[in-house]
Amino acid sequence: MMKFFNTMGRTVEEFNPINPAEVGLYTCGPTVYNFAHIGNFRAYLFEDILKRSLEYNGYKVKHVMNLTDVDDKTIRDSQAAKIPLNDFTAKYKKAFFEDLDKLRIERADVYPEATTHIPEMIDTIQTLLDKGYAYQSDDKCIYFSIDKFPEYGKLAKIDRENQRAGVRINTDEYAKDSVADFALWKAWDEKDGDVKWDSPWGEGRPGWHIECSAMSMKYLGKTFDIHTGGVDNMFPHHEDEIAQSESANGCRFVNYWLHCEHLTIDKKKMSKSLGNFYTLRDLEAKGYSGREVRWVLIGTHYRAKLNFSIGALDSARAALAKFDNLFARLKAAPAGDAKLAEATEAAKAGKAAFTAAVSDDLNISEALSALFVLVKTAGRLLAEGVQASGAKVLLDQFRDFDKVFGVLDVDAVKEEAPAADAPAEVLALVAARTEAKKAKDFAKADAIRDQLKEMGWSVVDKATGPVPVKL
Ligand code: AMP
Ligand code: ZN
Repeated sequence: MMKFFNTMGRTVEEFNPINPAEVGLYTCGPTVYNFAHIGNFRAYLFEDILKRSLEYNGYKVKHVMNLTDVDDKTIRDSQAAKIPLNDFTAKYKKAFFEDLDKLRIERADVYPEATTHIPEMIDTIQTLLDKGYAYQSDDKCIYFSIDKFPEYGKLAKIDRENQRAGVRINTDEYAKDSVADFALWKAWDEKDGDVKWDSPWGEGRPGWHIECSAMSMKYLGKTFDIHTGGVDNMFPHHEDEIAQSESANGCRFVNYWLHCEHLTIDKKKMSKSLGNFYTLRDLEAKGYSGREVRWVLIGTHYRAKLNFSIGALDSARAALAKFDNLFARLKAAPAGDAKLAEATEAAKAGKAAFTAAVSDDLNISEALSALFVLVKTAGRLLAEGVQASGAKVLLDQFRDFDKVFGVLDVDAVKEEAPAADAPAEVLALVAARTEAKKAKDFAKADAIRDQLKEMGWSVVDKATGPVPVKL
């Protein structure tokens, strides 16, 4: 049984999906007006760990992530760059998918774009007008009347007294102290340039919040299981989504709300507006890999703030190199069954601890501790002479952990391992071992392996031939 901290009730709840055969997951996606920074990717990585943990527990997940390709910011910046909106956002959509791949984030099933779902948004707005939840004001915009939805504020816990019904707010983003009727449809004005669509209320464009209400309903239905985002999405974005969707459909919108805390830098939220951000590209330019960034960003529980530093990436590099090395040594274990029973016992205990950890509101520290315990045991068993069948059990368990971590590279290590800088003496011994094996002189081959080990080297037999690996 999985458990999650549901922001709605501020408690940990057992997870009961509407349809256990397929969990519906909606994750608010990027606003494609710039390269996403690693703060944004902390949110997407939390969602990746969530989805992988659900899958690890046997659930099939239908994952929808929107791409916000029209809103205040995309219009503002495309106009400033004098580039048509679609061309402007296309560049950042492409970059987003490249970054997802580098960070090993599993792809969603659907990435609906706001600009190709305007009719669905118009329909939802029309329903809200028909049901009396929305009105057109003098400025020709359509607003949601928060007064008509008594539960307004239930997610972000806003007192009714602070709500200023009848006061209108036209921007997509605003603070809690300016709670007001918010725009569903924004009438065209000069600032929008040629960005406009026809609607029953005149030319204009949708507000940001209606995008997610209309697109989640289209792909996941009126009520679905899990909706996520960063904590800053809670208000106004998710609060407004709830108001729109529950008023339009007359039923509960989402059963579990999960929000991840911020990535900070010098203890301040990493954000584009503060200018204190790194994109993945910035870090690649400094020589770090998506794999190293992933390791840093997944290592802290999603509900705790994570302070980023370049030093953390150096530690990641060292930690990952140790794993690579351990896997290479396990792969190099000689044939035989020595220590198989101990390896099997350790793998079984590791899996049980790991499953309990990820099921407990994605307890990443416990999951990592299950990993490190097995790393330690594997190191000890190697020292005690574990042979290939026991080593395989351990490697399989690391592969199993990696279904959630997505970072261990148990198998890719072969590709990375070739040590181009192996001394000539080592290369000569590797060649001599190959000759011995060809001549079926396995005793000699094993003796050479031992000799290499004493020199601090191991041999991994790849399809393309043996490769020396530094221990
Ligand atoms: P945006 O493109 O601004 O809509 O943000 C996309 C996602 O990134 C949202 O879920 C935000 O809550 C999240 N986000 C933005 N900044 C941070 C940060 N510093 N740490 C974690 N998540 C963030
Ligand atoms: Zn959203």
